[in-house]
Amino acid sequence: MSHFKDPPKKQLGQHFLTDRNVIDQIVRAVNPQPGDTLVEIGPGQGAITFPLLKKHGALTVIEFDRDLITPLMEVSEGHGDLTIVHKDVLKVDFGKLAGEERIRLVGNLPYNISTPILFHVLEHAESVRDMHFMLQKEVVDRMAADPGSKVFGRLSVMLQATCEVTPLFDIGPLAFRPPPKVDSAVVRLVPKPAGSIGIDDPALFESLVRNAFGQRRKTLRNAVQQLCTGDEILAAGLRPEARAEQLEVAQFIALANYLASRPA
Ligand code: SAM
Repeated sequence: MSHFKDPPKKQLGQHFLTDRNVIDQIVRAVNPQPGDTLVEIGPGQGAITFPLLKKHGALTVIEFDRDLITPLMEVSEGHGDLTIVHKDVLKVDFGKLAGEERIRLVGNLPYNISTPILFHVLEHAESVRDMHFMLQKEVVDRMAADPGSKVFGRLSVMLQATCEVTPLFDIGPLAFRPPPKVDSAVVRLVPKPAGSIGIDDPALFESLVRNAFGQRRKTLRNAVQQLCTGDEILAAGLRPEARAEQLEVAQFIALANYLASRPA
C-alpha cells in the first residue's frame, strides 16, 4: 500500500511526476557522479528522489509539506542516505548546505513560486555547481530568450548574466498527476564563475534591469530615469531611445558598471 495518502495540494503547486520515461530523462540529464552533493527542491512523493537515491546513494531534499515528511522517511528506509530538510526553500541557506563542495540542485519546482525560487538560488550561486529544474515551458522560454524576442525580459537578463542557460526537453501535462494546465520544460543552469560575470555592483544591476523592464513600452531613457540621465546612457555606449527588450545582456552590464563608477 502506498505510504502517501494525502491528495495533492494545489496551494503547494503539487503536480507529481508519474511518467517513468520523463523521470529517467531527468536522472540521465543530472548524471550524478561519485562525490557529488545532490540537493532536491520539493521531493513530493519521491518521483525523482528515489531513482536519484538508488543511483547515487545519498541525497538531501527540501520539502515544505509536513504530510510528506514521514512517508518520505519510511519509503527511503534501507535505500540509501536521504536527509530531509523540512523547510520553505525560500528560507534555505544553500551556502550552509554546500560545505566544501558546491551543490548540484534538482527539482520539479512548485510553479506558483518558481521565479522567487530562481532568484533566491541565484543569491547563493557561488555555492551551486549546476541546476536541473522542471518549470513551466513559458518560464524556460523567457529564461533562454534572445534580445528582440517578445519574451525577452528581466528573467532572461538576470539568468543569462549569471548562468549558462540550456533548455533540455519539453514535457506535456499528462506526465503528471494531477496534470497542470500548462506545458513544462527541463532546463540546465550552470552559474558562471564569479570572476567572469563582470558585474561591479549586483544590487545596482538588479535595480537597473528591474526598472528597464518595468514599463516595456517606454524608451530606456524614460524607464530608468530614476537611476540615470540620457547623457549617462549615451556615455555608457547605449542609445537612450532604445527599448529594454532590444538590448544585449552585455549592454545592461556595461550601463550598470558605468553607473557604479560614477563619483559618489
Ligand atoms: N518532485 C516531485 C515530483 O516530481 O513528483 C514533486 C514536485 S511538485 C511540482 C513541487 C513540490 O514542491 C511539492 O512536493 C511541494 O510540496 C513542494 N513545495 C512547494 N512549495 C515549497 C516550498 N516553499 N519549499 C519547499 N518545497 C515546496
